[in-house]
Amino acid sequence: GTPMDAEFFTAWIGEAARAVRAEKDRLTRLDTAIGDGDHGVNLDRGLTAAAAALAERRPAAPGAVLALAGSTLIRKVGGASGPLYGTALREAGRALGEGAEVSPAELARALEAAVDGVRGLGAAAEGDKTMVDALAPAAGALARAVREGRDLAAALEAAASAAESGAEATVPMEARKGRASYLGPRSVGHEDPGAASGALLLRALHTVAVR
Ligand code: ADP
Ligand code: MG
Ligand code: MG
Repeated sequence: GTPMDAEFFTAWIGEAARAVRAEKDRLTRLDTAIGDGDHGVNLDRGLTAAAAALAERRPAAPGAVLALAGSTLIRKVGGASGPLYGTALREAGRALGEGAEVSPAELARALEAAVDGVRGLGAAAEGDKTMVDALAPAAGALARAVREGRDLAAALEAAASAAESGAEATVPMEARKGRASYLGPRSVGHEDPGAASGALLLRALHTVAVR
């Protein structure tokens, strides 16, 4: 299968940037309903900048790719999602260390580290109607699939599907973190924009793995 090397993770950021740009209006609409309407613009700007930084600096190891992408998101995105996704990527990069290639088990541990990073910074639990509701089920599904010995494509399909289901499951939730929480019960009935983008990022990872 596909080796998960620096090129693979660089391709992931590129595919994530493409997917977020294609879905920018939907993310903006979701954030207009329960936030300030900038989530699509924020992530588009951040991921486009991250892809450009990677093209320029060409880090040689997966951990360094994710570290640079994360730092770029933190620097370029003013909204809550910049530091949160930025921290997720940096923690994932740190978990991967300096190796030139990543195993499925290492990827699963890195995704768990990413979720822990988001939780550590934002203090959101599952059910609070945030990106955690997409990312945490994805990390769980990936770890389970790898433990069961599924191949990378199947494991990442399970992770992406779990993220998509998790994002859909935010619709009936009442937001308890971030701007949407200011709406209280009026946040019910809308998908969380960060959960929606989290699902896009996981789907992008599957897309590059099956290319
Ligand atoms: P802002 O709310 O500052 O405008 P964005 O619109 O880019 O930032 O991102 C909003 C998303 O960030 C939300 O939909 C939610 O998923 C996520 N988010 C906000 N606060 C938190 C938090 N404390 N923990 C986890 N995710 C959060
Ligand atoms: Mg916003
Ligand atoms: Mg904002």
